[in-house]
Amino acid sequence: MPGIRIDKKYCKGCELCVQACPMQIISMSKEINVKGFFIARVHEPTKCIGCRICAIVCPDIAIEVVTHGTQYIPFEY
Ligand code: SF4
Ligand code: SF4
Repeated sequence: MPGIRIDKKYCKGCELCVQACPMQIISMSKEINVKGFFIARVHEPTKCIGCRICAIVCPDIAIEVVTHGTQYIPFEY
């Protein structure tokens, strides 16, 4: 199962990853980071398909996708 890590200190709460995730499993939490932004979270991690779209769209490179086994890659970059 793919694993998603969101580095809290880099997130600026722009919600791009929330809009981009094809599985709609990312949402905004009520937690505020050191910069004063609400941060993104993965609320249903077991549904992640490891497509990495969230990591690609994040302007602050706050998301890391770690995959084991099957990985669905929509395109090479
Ligand atoms: S795209 Fe990046 S900076 Fe924007 S909410 Fe998601 S994790 Fe945070
Ligand atoms: S890797 Fe794909 S399915 Fe998993 S959280 Fe990111 S955008 Fe969603």
